[in-house]
This record gives sequence, C-alpha cells and structure tokens, in this order.
Amino acid sequence: MANDAARPLIVGNWKMNGLRADLPAVMAIDAMAGACAGVDVGLALPFTLIPRCAGMVNHAMLGAQNCHARPGGAFTGEVSGTMLADCGAAFVILGHSERRQGQHEDNAVVQGKVRAAIAAGLSVILCVGESAAERATGQAETAVRRQVLASLPADPPSGRALTIAYEPVWAIGTGVTPDAPAIGAMHGVLRETLLSLGYPAALLPRLLYGGSVNAGNAAAILRIAHVDGALVGNASLEPQSFGAILDQAAGAPTFGL
Ligand code: PEP
Repeated sequence: MANDAARPLIVGNWKMNGLRADLPAVMAIDAMAGACAGVDVGLALPFTLIPRCAGMVNHAMLGAQNCHARPGGAFTGEVSGTMLADCGAAFVILGHSERRQGQHEDNAVVQGKVRAAIAAGLSVILCVGESAAERATGQAETAVRRQVLASLPADPPSGRALTIAYEPVWAIGTGVTPDAPAIGAMHGVLRETLLSLGYPAALLPRLLYGGSVNAGNAAAILRIAHVDGALVGNASLEPQSFGAILDQAAGAPTFGL
C-alpha cells in the first residue's frame, strides 16, 4: 500500500458482509483511523459498498476482496481492477484462501489478477498460507514460499504497491492461531523470499499476519519480529473490537473495549 513501510498496517476484511445499514460502522472505523496516528488502516468492503463509501471515508483506505484478471470485456458477473479504481478503491485483497479453495483460484489465476490490479493502479494485499495438512507434514514453509513465488508476476510490484498477508488456512475464522515462534518463523521465510526476488531491504512489502486476530491476541502478535500489521476478518465487523486492535497497533488505549 502506498505508505511508509515502517508504519503498522491493520486491514479489516469484511468478506460477504455489509449492507447500507452498516455504513455507521464504516464511518466509526474511519473516525478511528483518523485518530490513530502512526497506523495505516484499510477496509476491504464488499463491491456494493465501495462506491457508496468512497465519498464518505476520509482516513481509512478502501479496498476490495477480489478482481478479474482482465480490465473489461465479456465476463458476466465479474468486476475488474479498473472498475475498482474507478469507484474509489485503493487496494484489493487477492489470493485469499476462501477464494483459492471455494473458487478454485490457483497461483496462476492469482498471478493474473495481481498483474491486472497493479496495472489498474491498485495496490495489492496478496494472501498466502498453508493448509492444516501441509503444517502437519512439515511442508508449511515450502508451500508458502511456493505460493509467493508463483502468485507474483515475473516483474513483481514495487514494495509500496504490495503487501503480503500470511494467513494459515486452519487459523481463519477458527479462533486458533499459530504460536509466536511459528508466526515469526514464517514471516522470516517471507522476508527472505522477498529479498531473493530483489526487493531492497529498506523497501520490502509489508508483512501482515491474518487468522483469528482479535482484541485479546493482537498485541502479542504485533510484537513478533517482521510482523508489520494484521489482516482481520471477524473482529473487523465490530468497530469496538477493531478499535481495540488499532489501539494495540498504536500502542495507546483510545478506542478499545
Ligand atoms: C480473513 O479472512 O482474512 C481473516 C483473517 O479472518 P478471521 O480474522 O475471521 O480469522
């Protein structure tokens, strides 16, 4: 995302949630983003709310949760990166495991979407993460490294246009998280992988942890080496719980529970 790489980044992923009746929650989160000095805040909304929020949100970055790999054409029901940028999105989440699994998006599909989103002027949050079986068989680091390398285009986006979110599939929406050494080890792997792609150390994409982050565990997770922020699902739907996570990223209790 187009911000100082040293600032923590907290992004809410609203998934397929959010009606017009939820606009006050978006505005509450935007107000917290404005008051939360030193923390970048993103909100990945359903397509339907983005144009509506674009004129109202002043502090949080607005994003989407998917886009098509082509800028336009005969793709019934799809939304392109160009359309997202046109209606006020600044970023898009790509490669989320719910799409890799539910919509059968493999790394090649994700790579095409990353390329298209960048061409449309969006920044990208690329999600990667191992399955429970890969973790149990000692394949987690290999699987995640492979996902990063195969989901990025040959000419990868600049470090400011890309964020990587490490989201173990088995931690999403389950209330279970890896322990701190496992999160730290995987973020170390991500860092090495990005360095091997030629990103300068001073301008590495930010690395987020995602998977059951909440007000109770965010502080400890955000302290782990190379964790630059969090991608938050469930706990981002309630401004109060999201605010408590922002507090922890800012190191100051302002909005919390
Ligand atoms: C997500 O889906 O990106 C996510 C992190 O979800 P949750 O926080 O609900 O596990």
